[in-house]
Amino acid sequence: MHVPLLLTDFLDRAVRIYGHETAIIDGDVTLTYNDVFDRVQQLSHGLHDLGIQKGDRTAYLAPNSHEMFEGFYGVFQTGSVMTPLNTRLTPEDYIFILNHSESKVLFVDHTLYDTVKSIRSELETVHTVIVHGSAHPEDGDLAYEQWLNTYPSEPFERAELEESDTASLLYTSGTTGNPKGVMLSHRSNYLHALTTMHHLRVTDKDTLLHVLPMFHVNGWGSPFYYTANGACQVMQRKIDADSILDNIQQHQVTVCHMAPTVLNMLIEAYTERRGSYSNQQNVRVVIAGSAPPPAFVTRVEEDLKWEFIQVYGMTEIAPLVTTSQPLRYQQQHKPEQLHRMKAKQGVPLIGSDVRVVSEDGEEVPRDGKIVGEIVVRSNNVMEGYWQNPQATADTIRDGFLHTGDMANVDEEGFIEIVDRKKDVIISGGENISSIEVEGCLYDHPDVLEAAVISVPHEKWGEVPHAVVVLREGASADEETLIAFSREKLAHFKAPKGITFTHALPKTASGKIQKVQIRKPFWEGKDRFIN
Ligand code: ATP
Ligand code: MG
Repeated sequence: MHVPLLLTDFLDRAVRIYGHETAIIDGDVTLTYNDVFDRVQQLSHGLHDLGIQKGDRTAYLAPNSHEMFEGFYGVFQTGSVMTPLNTRLTPEDYIFILNHSESKVLFVDHTLYDTVKSIRSELETVHTVIVHGSAHPEDGDLAYEQWLNTYPSEPFERAELEESDTASLLYTSGTTGNPKGVMLSHRSNYLHALTTMHHLRVTDKDTLLHVLPMFHVNGWGSPFYYTANGACQVMQRKIDADSILDNIQQHQVTVCHMAPTVLNMLIEAYTERRGSYSNQQNVRVVIAGSAPPPAFVTRVEEDLKWEFIQVYGMTEIAPLVTTSQPLRYQQQHKPEQLHRMKAKQGVPLIGSDVRVVSEDGEEVPRDGKIVGEIVVRSNNVMEGYWQNPQATADTIRDGFLHTGDMANVDEEGFIEIVDRKKDVIISGGENISSIEVEGCLYDHPDVLEAAVISVPHEKWGEVPHAVVVLREGASADEETLIAFSREKLAHFKAPKGITFTHALPKTASGKIQKVQIRKPFWEGKDRFIN
């Protein structure tokens, strides 16, 4: 018997077993799984009435909120494709993504309604805007609660779907070029959720604080695997250390997913509050989706007393690929050694064939030194990029998705990313990791931010060059920083020049866009692969 794997199964299970228990806490709003289910039915009826059909894209522009959570399941029931947008993009980005995805309906939080109004005339296919919260929508647009309450909570007759049907269209961060629309099927998202709930040991006793945005790949997936387990989910609308710590304490949160930068803010705030706080929280684990230094892992595990798990992933893989969590090592290694391991990206998740390969496709030896590209074959890999067959063919080759991330593998099989392929500097035949050189510059007390890029050089082809933002009042000059790097690094790795600037270009999710920084140095030459 073939039963398709559909994301709506997760909410169905939660309702059946945990219907009367708290599903969502969002400020003053508390909803049980039964409440959520009823509102999801209303939402699907409403979308159907607006003409939304199987395969249509429905866009969502909101911070973590109960409305967005309902949106996921309400959209899936109609067979429509959830297309979430980052709340920190520019109006031009919204025009690009909404037109490129041909979204028909756009849900928007009231805090972003003015932005949407300002681009309304340039949206080619969005015919309805539905606004959450306290705004008064203009003619033709709908107020969410009012609109929802015109529909019954009777079960909606769901669209007939196959597990291979597309469930979501998420855009990549645009770190290395234009954002690309990633199509993920119900099946990919479903299998990813099953695997992840195992690795993160999710149970019905968990209370998750949604700190990572659900619209972004980093927070993507958690509304599936915590729901399937009937966990309680608290919405963190605003990223602010005090309010995060208040939520953790007030709702006895057991698990959070967050970026190391946010964790860093928490460590500072927590240290100030220690006396009144340390015995009143319940967090068992924190999950972070980018690389921290080992000393940072130590602070989380020893100051906060939270278990730290690093995960690595990307939009194209639904998203997670590896985890640094295997329990066996917790007992085998001393804390210091363990924290060094947890600062690496770790080992493959169940169901993912993850290899680090050299240019000829051979796996690199497990020596912690030789670098190759991470490639992945799994059921979580995307169907392809929306309306971009060329980029799809460039990325998925010979059955493997080529991540563009360069890494080594140590004796224990732990993968460690050293750089993105597009950012590696090839100087006189030597490969230089831009991340390694940046790490050295960050050790200098005057350096606030640094990006190391390749620039053209007559003799060596390319050489490393650093673009640096100094701390306020700091005075280090080019000569000082170069001398500092030469003391710590092999000379060919030290930057040959430094440019000082006030700010580095970043994506909406805070990643430095080296592609933009390299541009002026390579004008008229061909390093610019995009
Ligand atoms: P674009 O593909 O548009 O250039 P992007 O690759 O930044 O943008 P995402 O899918 O959001 O878009 O990010 C995935 C990338 O983030 C990975 O390919 C990797 O380079 C980086 N990354 C993710 N997790 C980690 C981690 N734990 N450690 C280091 N790097 C990570
Ligand atoms: Mg990418």
